[in-house]
Amino acid sequence: MDGIKMVDLGKQYREIKEEVLLSFDAVLNSSAFVKGPPVADFEKAMEKYLDTKQVIGCGNGTDALQIALMALELKPGDEVITTPFTFVATVEVIALLGLVPVFADIDPATFNLDTGKIEALIGPRTKVILPVHLFGQSANMQDLMDLANSHGLYVIEDNAQSMGAEVRMRDGDRKAGTVGHIGTTSFFPSKNLGAYGDGGALFTSDEKLGDAIRQIANHGSSKRYHYERVGVNSRLDSLQAAVLLVKLKRLNTYNEKRQRAAGIYDQLLSEVEGVIRPFRAEHTTHVFHQYTLRIESERDRVVEALKERRIPFGIYYPIPLHLHRAYDRFGYRRGDLPVSEKMAEEVLSLPMHTHLTVEQQEYIAATVKKALD
Ligand SMILES: *Cc1c(COP(=O)(O)O)cnc(C)c1O
Repeated sequence: MDGIKMVDLGKQYREIKEEVLLSFDAVLNSSAFVKGPPVADFEKAMEKYLDTKQVIGCGNGTDALQIALMALELKPGDEVITTPFTFVATVEVIALLGLVPVFADIDPATFNLDTGKIEALIGPRTKVILPVHLFGQSANMQDLMDLANSHGLYVIEDNAQSMGAEVRMRDGDRKAGTVGHIGTTSFFPSKNLGAYGDGGALFTSDEKLGDAIRQIANHGSSKRYHYERVGVNSRLDSLQAAVLLVKLKRLNTYNEKRQRAAGIYDQLLSEVEGVIRPFRAEHTTHVFHQYTLRIESERDRVVEALKERRIPFGIYYPIPLHLHRAYDRFGYRRGDLPVSEKMAEEVLSLPMHTHLTVEQQEYIAATVKKALD
């Protein structure tokens, strides 16, 4: 079967083409490519969607994490407790800022930080807990906030993969990314809310942090040619904001389509021995950035079968962050984070996007099933 893509952005574009081209045309006519009206409009629309006080656009999701850490005014050597089972951006920005990552292992059911393993890692230099809401589900934010509050720690949520997920908190539901002190996201094209190039944003309901973030993203300046602190140049450009405005209106529909596709995979794979389907945690909805299986043994057989039929797939992530040469200096060894290391050998993500057909899913599931027969 031809035409199966890991993420099919072309089909999605053809549905919104007229609206996107009109808004691009408006930007091109205005020549306001940087800090044009769509940027402020998008930040407002996102504040409303997330029900949070401030959304600040920036250049990409990695910058968003860096700016978030910079806004907390940490000192070199301060520790950030985070997950080793994620994209490199997290540990990269921690290292760049002279901070120290302290890895907590993950929950094998959700692939998110195991909140029960965090407390033992908190020490005098711990300043931040940085959960990553992986694959479409939030980490257990109620437990995490209770812990952080009792130790006076900041919480930065990396929400690049779970935009639109609802988190159940004691006093009501919140959107993922708006529970901690700062939330960050990426608008990389393949994310649930993706632009047509790079983009990112930070969210906060803390006015002081919001002002600091806006200043840092703009060279540390609030007033032109007056610099209050060391900053960076990181902005969401007007063309990206214009397409994001078009897509934000459809985000809930897009997430529903992913959820429907996930339900179909669940059914098709329900009786396959050795395959663990995605677990749905009670404390969050799942917006299926990825549909990630655990293949308990012989994942290679499934990999080979998918390759043979030219079905795309992903292994997120093949090596946990603590085992990369670049991060040697933090002193971790194989065996230190056994759940993450085991999951790296078992995970396999199937094609997931807003335009998968049932026929494609049947073909994909049959291939997985046959490989394990
Ligand atoms: C995509 C992603 C990022 C980085 O975003 P960029 O926009 O590519 O810099 C960071 N964290 C997670 C969890 C991501 O999935």
